[in-house]
Amino acid sequence: MFIDAHSHIDLLKNYKQAIQNAKEKNIKILTAGIDIKSNRKLLELKKQNLEIEICLGIYPTETLKLSEKEIDSEIDFIKKNKNKIVAIGEIGLDLKENSPETLEKQKENLSKFIELTKELNKPVIIHSRKAEEECINFLEKFNYKKIVMHCFSGNFKLVKRILENNWILTIPTSVKNSQHFQKVIEIAPIKNLLCETDSPYLHPDKEFPNEPKNVIESYKKISEIKKISLKEVEKTLEENYANFFK
Ligand SMILES: [Zn+2]
Repeated sequence: MFIDAHSHIDLLKNYKQAIQNAKEKNIKILTAGIDIKSNRKLLELKKQNLEIEICLGIYPTETLKLSEKEIDSEIDFIKKNKNKIVAIGEIGLDLKENSPETLEKQKENLSKFIELTKELNKPVIIHSRKAEEECINFLEKFNYKKIVMHCFSGNFKLVKRILENNWILTIPTSVKNSQHFQKVIEIAPIKNLLCETDSPYLHPDKEFPNEPKNVIESYKKISEIKKISLKEVEKTLEENYANFFK
């Protein structure tokens, strides 16, 4: 089985078709919540018995739009639904969309979600765009191991720190045309890798929308760069997922 370890199924217009397309290619989908609305939508999809795994969280930019009370109540909501989710995410820090002055507030919000993650003892999917070093410094303080750095675009000194911490890096489908992610594959041990589409974003050929079935492109690149068969990559990443998410 192939695994798309990070997507936003609810943002696809034709998500039922996308789930069906993935199923036909033997691809498991993990889809992440980004705000209060999408967390509820994903639970609703799960209720309809669609074949997806879900994680709930609030995207860093979205946390800045919420009051402290709203964040606390969403955390309670996630706790109540803990048996329906496999991880917490997408959470993190973002300094591309937000000014540096928001960093302290973002960290305050993030720490609430990390405490939740520790309490539930589940993996966490981290977004770190343009705040990569801040994010690693911050996460290391929590001394928590089940961390997935989604689409990590920081420099290779930071990639090495992630690997020393034995966290997971997800390879997005945009790897097809990205030297950065091709190099990540080169230097990371395969035990630290998973693949993702970030659907509807990060299409392998820069189109829109991306969908989970395209995750095969990331698998192919790992196979090509590590010089191991596609079957072997599939098997190893399935083990990685099982070890990390169970
Ligand atoms: Zn995402």
